Amino acid sequence: MTNDKRVLILGGTGEAATLAAKIDEIPGVNAIASLAGRTQQPIPLTTTSRSGGFGGVVGLTDYLRQERIDVLIDATHPFAAKISFNAALAADECNIPRLMLIRPAWEKVPGDNWIEVESNQAAANVLPGLAKRIFLTIGRQELSIYSNLKDIWFLMRMIDAPEANSLIPIGKLILQRGPFSLEEERSLLQEYEIDAIVSKNSGGDATYPKIIAARELGLPVVMVQRPSVPNGEKVADVESVISWVRNRLYQIG
Ligand code: NAP
Repeated sequence: MTNDKRVLILGGTGEAATLAAKIDEIPGVNAIASLAGRTQQPIPLTTTSRSGGFGGVVGLTDYLRQERIDVLIDATHPFAAKISFNAALAADECNIPRLMLIRPAWEKVPGDNWIEVESNQAAANVLPGLAKRIFLTIGRQELSIYSNLKDIWFLMRMIDAPEANSLIPIGKLILQRGPFSLEEERSLLQEYEIDAIVSKNSGGDATYPKIIAARELGLPVVMVQRPSVPNGEKVADVESVISWVRNRLYQIG
């Protein structure tokens, strides 16, 4: 073992992949990127990486100790709440500094017609009476919530196909990873005669063009709000994480 400092990055986002590469470039620092292992072809990582759940708070605590992690960066997706709370508890248990990288949420601008809801279940509840042909962009994990809406046709876009036996709403699946251009999004909405969108408020640029296209076409967007995040230090961009890590590692010595 060297004396290099070890930084664990909880990932699953584009920012996390970029961040891991940049942290690994800091002299005397090793970055280890962690993925949940759900996506068949994840964004390629250039650093040491691991894949799969840790086994809850206890498993993550053990991992932090066994791997002699000095600093933990939570760069998971804003909707990945469980791992963020696990990370908070495990880092506290090990007395390891922890930082959350949270990309800013999208903000409503003039011309947007958003119906803001707390959850996918709440989104499904508002759809009857609102629209007949929905562009559903919530990933694959909670698709079944919409499957009993038999009078609505769904265009569903996600990276990987849903599990074999999962309940899928009536409609069409598109398997694609962003970024998507405004032109692509506009023509998709027009081609499938979409009359409303359901989206998580993921933030970031890669999937924002659908929101612009909805605004241009005067379509309502049912926007699922983010879950709460644990207490602790937070920054909004990769460069701020790098500064924070440098500072923390300097303090650790
Ligand atoms: P979640 O509900 O917060 O986590 C579920 C479980 O997956 C966790 O308890 C943990 O298992 C494992 N896990 C999650 N992220 C992990 C990571 N980076 N490394 C190792 N294990 C991880 O998360 P989710 O919503 O299922 O999302 C899974 C992953 O996909 C996350 O890493 C997230 O960044 C990414 N992602 C999520 C979304 C979304 O909308 N939810 C969108 C894009 C990307 P154990 O308890 O066994 O440790």
